[in-house]
Amino acid sequence: MRRKLVVGNWKMHGSRAANAELLAALAAARPFAADVAVCVPCVFIGETAAQLAGSDIAWGAQDVSAHAQGAYTGEVSAAMLAEYGCRYAIVGHSERRQYHAESDALVAAKAQAALARAITPIVCVGETLAERDGGRTETVVTRQLGAVIAALGARAAQMVVAYEPVWAIGTGRTATPDQAQAVHAVLRAQLQAAGADAAGVRLLYGGSVKADNAVELFAMPDIDGGLIGGASLKAAEFTVICNAAR
Ligand code: PEP
Repeated sequence: MRRKLVVGNWKMHGSRAANAELLAALAAARPFAADVAVCVPCVFIGETAAQLAGSDIAWGAQDVSAHAQGAYTGEVSAAMLAEYGCRYAIVGHSERRQYHAESDALVAAKAQAALARAITPIVCVGETLAERDGGRTETVVTRQLGAVIAALGARAAQMVVAYEPVWAIGTGRTATPDQAQAVHAVLRAQLQAAGADAAGVRLLYGGSVKADNAVELFAMPDIDGGLIGGASLKAAEFTVICNAAR
């Protein structure tokens, strides 16, 4: 039985004051039946760690360098994130693939770098609207996941995968539970075929998850929780979503 996981992706939002308020509200809403984490902008990780220390809410980053160290201006290494107790690092979010031209190979290298420091990569995959309309959803997501499986080998079982259809991110348009489940089943089968312990890998759904659709989505057999963007910035709504995962 996989324990559900709900992860907030704050993206480039927040301020020291607003974060303190949001995290205090979340801490006050514990305990949750599911695992809960927040992936915050790097500059806030230290304060987030200090505020959540001792609670069962985990924290993480929204990206990680594929390199261990060196002349890579602007990048943050997995070792640095590990020093601040990050449990998770999102890799391959569609916004990074789109705005930073991240390739499948780079995403796979980032997943490897995270795992090397015992940080669980949350590997995002998902198709654009044009790809879905062109009947290419399965081809795209299996290509994206396949690159990571190939790089991680037996360690593939240690990642978390997030299926995030690009057309549903921040648009208010959610995949139906059946649409999401169908893709999750494909991803689970791919992990299984690769010999990863597919039964244990958590597959999150992300894309306009809200308080009023979380229960239905999380009830699907291969949806093990969610990666939540906009709604994770509102303490009351994020709490409802976390409580929908059980
Ligand atoms: C995301 O950015 O990972 C996401 C799912 O965003 P939203 O929930 O706002 O669609």
